[in-house]
Amino acid sequence: THFGFETVPEAEKAGRVQGVFGSVASKYDVMNDVMSMGIHRIWKDAMMDWLAPRKGQRLLDVAGGTGDISFRFLKRAGEAHSTVLDITEPMLVEGRKRAEAEQMASSLDWVVGDAMALPFEDNTFDVYTISFGIRNVTRPQEALNEAFRVLKPGGRLMVLEFSQLPNAAMQKAYDAYSFNVIPRMGKLIANDADSYQYLVESIRNFPDQETFLQMVKTAGFENASYRNLSLGIAALHSGWKI
Ligand code: SAM
Repeated sequence: THFGFETVPEAEKAGRVQGVFGSVASKYDVMNDVMSMGIHRIWKDAMMDWLAPRKGQRLLDVAGGTGDISFRFLKRAGEAHSTVLDITEPMLVEGRKRAEAEQMASSLDWVVGDAMALPFEDNTFDVYTISFGIRNVTRPQEALNEAFRVLKPGGRLMVLEFSQLPNAAMQKAYDAYSFNVIPRMGKLIANDADSYQYLVESIRNFPDQETFLQMVKTAGFENASYRNLSLGIAALHSGWKI
């Protein structure tokens, strides 16, 4: 528990996640820009820089929501295919609208499903991404194991997620900001303080960079490493299925 917020019991997490994202879906893209002051775009571009998408690759974008990662990936690859999987259907509905508006619908599939039990065969994808999604998954290790299973040998995992700052003083300042400012902004802009309270809580409860790196290795990934973004407010983890 941090700042008096309760930790969500495991069994309730999936339901709560769908409640949160179901209710913010239509405002998700705008709120992302407002809350992060546009910085999520810089982090997503950094993800693409490290990932270096290539023509012909088959991407699985888990917890893909409205498709931010998939659209970037497809544009950079030139010609590729992405399957966007998410547990909250209204998020995918928003994404599909965007795909049609940007005339990219033919390069995308939209699948409702759970990161912990992917409805795909072994060795199917070249790249697996999960961006600001894995901290919402009830048991993140199971999602990583599934990522390993569905990737082809030679396939690449890339995780973008909020992370922890390198020292206690900085973390404290950041916590004070996020636990006070973010839920209030959520109330003001989206009239939804609860969803944004969930957001800061889930960020604070997620494992730090080194702990998560061990989880990536435990799933079987090799050459696993990470890069901090904005001093560790977020981090990218990469691994290969050899
Ligand atoms: N990837 C997008 C981005 O970076 O903008 C969307 C991220 S959004 C913050 C988190 C998404 O994770 C939500 O759309 C939510 O429905 C999805 N999600 C949460 N738990 C999930 C699970 N177990 N399996 C699949 N998707 C999940």
